[in-house]
Amino acid sequence: MALNARELVLFLNSSRGERGFERVERAVGQINRYAEIVRSVSYQTRALAGAAESHAREREAGQLQREINNFLDQTRVWVQFGPSGRWRWMARSVSQSRGPSRSFSTGASLVLDAVVEGYIRLIRRCPACRAWFAIRRPWQKFCLDECREKHFRKSSEGKARRARYMRGYRARLKRLAENLRLAAQKRKKR
Ligand SMILES: [Zn+2]
Repeated sequence: MALNARELVLFLNSSRGERGFERVERAVGQINRYAEIVRSVSYQTRALAGAAESHAREREAGQLQREINNFLDQTRVWVQFGPSGRWRWMARSVSQSRGPSRSFSTGASLVLDAVVEGYIRLIRRCPACRAWFAIRRPWQKFCLDECREKHFRKSSEGKARRARYMRGYRARLKRLAENLRLAAQKRKKR
C-alpha cells in the first residue's frame, strides 16, 4: 500500500459529520464513481452497452467531472518533490487554519497527494460495511472476505425468497385458471 493511502483511509473513516470533512468524502466518492464509469466503458464496447445507457453515463461523467474540478478549485496545496532522493511528489496543505475548515484542508491535501501519486485509484468504499479501504488486488470490491461473504449470503437469501414467492405466485395463477375453466364448464352444462 502506498505510504499515505493508510492516512487517507484513516481520515475518511473518522467521519465526524463536519461539513469540511463531508466535502472531502463526497469528492473521493465522486472520483471513485468516475473511475467506475471509465472501467465499465472500457470493459463493454459502446455497442454492447446500448446507446441510451452510454448517453446517461456520459452525462453522469460530465457532471462528476465538473464537481470534482469544483472540489479541486477549492483546495489550497503545494506540491513538493522528495523527500530525500526518492521519486515522489508530495502534496501538502497550505492552509494553517484551525477550526471547522481544518478537516477540509487536511483531507484535501491527502486527496491531492493520492491524485498526484496515483493511489487514489486504490481507495474504495466497501459496499457491505461502508468503510473506506485501499484495495490490495485490482478486482477487490469488499474490505474483508467477511464482508464479501455477508454480501453474497444476503443476496442469495434474497434470491431464494424471490424464488419462493414466484413459485407461490405461479401456483395461485394456475389455481385461478383452473377455477375459471371449471366455472366455464359449469355454465356450458347449464
Ligand atoms: Zn466491509
